[in-house]
Amino acid sequence: MKKLINATADVVDDMIAGLAIANPGLALLEGERVVLRADIEAFKASGRVALISGGGSGHEPAHAGYIGEGLLTAAVCGDVFTSPSTDAVLAAIRAATGPAGALLIVKNYTGDRLNFGLAAEIARSEGFAVDMVVVADDMALAENAETAGRRGIAGTVLVHKITGAAAAEGLSLADVKTEAERAISAIGSMGVALSACTVPAAGKPGFTLGDGEIELGLGIHGEAGVSRTAMQPSRALVEILLGRIFADRNIGQGDRVALLVNNLGGTPVMEMQIVVADVARVAARFGVTIDRLWAGTFLTALEMAGCSLSAMKVDAALLARLDAPASAPAWPGRGAGPIGAGPKVISQAAVAPGALEAGEGDPRLAVAVRAAAEALIADEARLTDLDQQVGDGDLGLNLARGAEAILREIDAYPDKRAASVLRALSASLRKTVGGTSGALYAAGLLRAASELEGVPTPGFADWARAFAAGSAAIARLGDARVGDRTMLDALLPAAEVLSAASAYGGAEVLGHAIAAAREGSAATAAIASRRGRSSYLGERAVGVPDPGAEAVVVWLAAIAGSLGRSG
Ligand code: ADP
Ligand code: MG
Repeated sequence: MKKLINATADVVDDMIAGLAIANPGLALLEGERVVLRADIEAFKASGRVALISGGGSGHEPAHAGYIGEGLLTAAVCGDVFTSPSTDAVLAAIRAATGPAGALLIVKNYTGDRLNFGLAAEIARSEGFAVDMVVVADDMALAENAETAGRRGIAGTVLVHKITGAAAAEGLSLADVKTEAERAISAIGSMGVALSACTVPAAGKPGFTLGDGEIELGLGIHGEAGVSRTAMQPSRALVEILLGRIFADRNIGQGDRVALLVNNLGGTPVMEMQIVVADVARVAARFGVTIDRLWAGTFLTALEMAGCSLSAMKVDAALLARLDAPASAPAWPGRGAGPIGAGPKVISQAAVAPGALEAGEGDPRLAVAVRAAAEALIADEARLTDLDQQVGDGDLGLNLARGAEAILREIDAYPDKRAASVLRALSASLRKTVGGTSGALYAAGLLRAASELEGVPTPGFADWARAFAAGSAAIARLGDARVGDRTMLDALLPAAEVLSAASAYGGAEVLGHAIAAAREGSAATAAIASRRGRSSYLGERAVGVPDPGAEAVVVWLAAIAGSLGRSG
């Protein structure tokens, strides 16, 4: 057994000490495992009915975590999964009960009923006004069975909340009890366990589940469930649990419920959220509206994996009590809702500003882009071969895939202005070109697009500026510079020539830029790489030019060629 404990005999004392240290609103009653409001004297003087709950430990944060304003006044903590003694309960009653009296909220287990019941009897004989209610919300067991009857499980937390709100309103003990009973008769729960739990003193799990086995209708004391079945998808399990609860509590079409999705202690948050999504869907299918939803760790069975669902049919009065302000360490506040069958979804079209705006641009742009794309497709085999020698061999294919996407999509780009076309090219590449170059080209094009924003038909100087900005963005994102044996060895020298001569423009300058790119690319054959995949090859890449740099020369030359033809 691996547990963060000291001696097994000390787990409850150590635990409530930690709780009270972390939550200064709580205090411990000297000599007993009783947690109570730290301001208990002021509370008693306030004339409100005290609420006392408790039972075996191991269900944390229940019940001591629910002590606070608008919730419990005190909790009695037995050993793990063992009822507290009569004397411990009696000590709690004596400490927490003022003139308005106290209501004991007990889960339906024989030991708890007896010890809380006997303590109440003794307290009454001492002159305290004390009454008791019993929560039996476990729908997995039949109501009138010849047994101890239904157990009290996680629904107890919502009973605490409703009763706590009633007591905070200043109702009399009799009226608070009536409210508690109303909540108890409205709530039903059922759980599913994926694994057992280990009581520290026992040192081994209370039951074992085979691979792929689960327990439906488990108890919260590590006891086995009502039936053992094969693991099923979350949605199927939620169907079973909610179906059983709704049938039993007579909840159906048109009804409104408060719903508690409770982690039994060892369930990952991811799975809890999946269960919540299924709960929303399944409730909607039943025609039931979830007016309030809580999901979290409310009443556990140590580290048991699994969850329980609790549903309570609500009216305006119950809802008001569930919503009433309360503050206790483990109470999360108002539940979410009313919730829908699925999540809120924001359409991308609705939030992308001006996405479909159209405008005219320079027709030579599309011609140049097509030429670049066709050249990359034509050179696929050579680029692939180079990347096979120094990389993973996908560069030719990657760029050809991107080029094909561009040829397919470019006529449908709605906005023909330069900035929009570059942005659309970036998106086409982002969606189709994997690997390093896809991300780098997409970033470069995007940056070049912002440089041309508001310039629908850019001149040579504008293009030179955009080319330099795009190349710089690639250098920034890839954290590389000239000499690192990357596409930048072609891009940056070309950008430099274009920027320096941008005032002259024209085919001649373009020719010089391409020559610079070609020279830079050729030089990479002499460099051991420090960036990208070929960096893993080190000296072994020497002799082969960088395929990414070669690709730059290919499309740059194709663009120049197309401009030369169209003037
Ligand atoms: P990979 O398969 O390694 O994910 P690609 O095959 O898509 O990448 O592209 C490889 C090319 O990407 C290289 O030839 C090089 O030109 C370029 N490259 C790799 N790393 C960087 C970087 N950090 N900065 C700029 N370019 C890079
Ligand atoms: Mg590659």
